[in-house]
Amino acid sequence: MSGNSAYHWPGVLSSALDAVGCTPLIRLDRIAKEEGLECNLLGKCEFFSVGGSVKDRIAKRMVEEAEKTGRLVPGKSVVIEPTSGNTGIGLALCCAIKGYKCVMRRSAPVLLSAPPKMSLEKEVMLRALGAIIVRTPTEAAWDSPESHIGVAQTLQRSIPGGVILDQYSNPHNPLAHYHSTYAEIKYSLESSSLPSKTIDMLVAGAGTGGTITGIARAIRDNEQLSPGAVTAISTSDAQGGQKQRAKIIAVDPEGSILGGGHVGNYEVEGIGYDFFPEVLDPSPSLIDEWLKINDKESFAMVKRIIRTEGLFVGGSSGSALSGALRYLRSPAGASIAKDPTANVVVILPDGVRNYMSKPWFLEQADEPATADMRDTIRNIIGRE
Ligand code: PMP
Repeated sequence: MSGNSAYHWPGVLSSALDAVGCTPLIRLDRIAKEEGLECNLLGKCEFFSVGGSVKDRIAKRMVEEAEKTGRLVPGKSVVIEPTSGNTGIGLALCCAIKGYKCVMRRSAPVLLSAPPKMSLEKEVMLRALGAIIVRTPTEAAWDSPESHIGVAQTLQRSIPGGVILDQYSNPHNPLAHYHSTYAEIKYSLESSSLPSKTIDMLVAGAGTGGTITGIARAIRDNEQLSPGAVTAISTSDAQGGQKQRAKIIAVDPEGSILGGGHVGNYEVEGIGYDFFPEVLDPSPSLIDEWLKINDKESFAMVKRIIRTEGLFVGGSSGSALSGALRYLRSPAGASIAKDPTANVVVILPDGVRNYMSKPWFLEQADEPATADMRDTIRNIIGRE
């Protein structure tokens, strides 16, 4: 298992860093059945990673690579990162374990600049890990000095030992997914009883774009489609004799420009931007399609995933699965949707425990799943 020695979770792990990644691929059979899908709908459940998200792997890899080149020196360096929260949690966790903490008691362990919509839960977790958080205005353009990127740069210039690992341009962001996330998915498929072990469709949201770029590159470099999914290839591809390709779908919130459209406000955290991060490779040879998903669809899907699959996923997981289902319901997705040998992998980037205090979650948690049962209980004991 390249780059992921703890994949089998053998014996006793040497630290929480060995519990980064290694997340399960879980069948979403109830939703697949409701949708009339015959393909295998599989969720890569990133909230099982030790810091709770898909970003733990990149934090670990960026820190360890910077240590190898001497850019980060324990006891001297102060890690500064513009992040919507999850990368920060991964970084703060790595820094705590690796002993950056000592320096940090004197100065600051990890300094992060974050947009104000970042949930309270992420902020509290960061503070618990010893990080200092500087909130920046959401409306600040990415290239203004007030933005989370601008503030991080100002801090770096003024703080001795300040280092920005920069998830937006650091090649180890997509490489973490190329080597680890992809390898984990393959390991899960190959050790399963599924009829085919290929990834026939990948759906992932894009923030920095590291997740989709890294996994998609690994798929393009390594995958052949399952025989049944060959019908999904367009006739022009087939006639042109090109390599059979998996479908790769990127999901982007309305209000972000990554998948087209205009800048606007949206509540889902972690995906979408008002600029194109350097690590995102949007070339059509890699990403076949961009789907725009709004907050309402995303949050309704979170509720559906929790209530039907028992998986405590966060908002961007709702966006990713909404995108996957929209594509599979469309004529373009029909041949994959009806192929029992096709594997559709949807990245579910974090968990809803990151968003417990958000109005969108509190509102839906309040809605009774079974109103009639509520009435029955009220009739029996006079209250709930
Ligand atoms: N969902 C959530 C909750 C995230 O925190 C992120 C990271 N920004 C993503 C999705 C997107 O990941 P990436 O940056 O690799 O595109």
